[in-house]
Amino acid sequence: MKVIAIDGPAGSGKSTVARAVADSVGLPYLDTGAMYRSVAFAALRRGADPDEAGKVAQIARSMALDMRNDGTVWVDGVDASIEIRGPEVTRAVSIVAANSEVRSEMRDRQRAWAIEHGGGVMEGRDIGTVVFPDAELKVYLDARPDVRADRRSKEVTDLAYETVAADIARRDALDQGREDSPLTAAPDAVVIDTSDLSVAQIVDRVVSALDRAS
Ligand code: C5P
Repeated sequence: MKVIAIDGPAGSGKSTVARAVADSVGLPYLDTGAMYRSVAFAALRRGADPDEAGKVAQIARSMALDMRNDGTVWVDGVDASIEIRGPEVTRAVSIVAANSEVRSEMRDRQRAWAIEHGGGVMEGRDIGTVVFPDAELKVYLDARPDVRADRRSKEVTDLAYETVAADIARRDALDQGREDSPLTAAPDAVVIDTSDLSVAQIVDRVVSALDRAS
């Protein structure tokens, strides 16, 4: 089973690069951030406070989550693809993702997905460190905070740059500071600073690293 792990903070270029790498090497792609966003979405929809750890964990275990190959995300039979990217979910997601029971459930689902698909390109925060420590290739993408905020604010055009920058800084702090699988590069990850690189250049570096690894 061939797993390529692509980790890094928000705005580092993970999603764009992971999708392009998946296309280039012919593997399926999984956005694990969308899974944590889906838990936050399900919790909000069922009226649970993101801080209610036991209740949110129960929701994570019982929810039907369908990460489709066409890129849409279905939660309990509802297409949540748009709402999981919205401000309410973005505000709640890092609290939900710091919940150990939620993480354990998502890890199980991510490993099951990889087995079912015979591997894949998996992007997230802890894929190379915890979910697949034996991945064929581990990549950690990073970029300067101003570059990351700039990229994100171009995607989320209805929010001011300052709002987006503050949100990224808040999520970075929560994701790096949590006890369970914090955001960090695996010791054997290929670390790429994407600040001054084009998407094509980053993809080239990842694909050559993969050639060297296999
Ligand atoms: O990648 P994205 O920004 O959509 O991820 C949303 C949030 O999900 C992150 O800020 C982080 O709190 C959480 N996450 C995580 N572990 C992963 C992927 C995402 O904790 N593997």
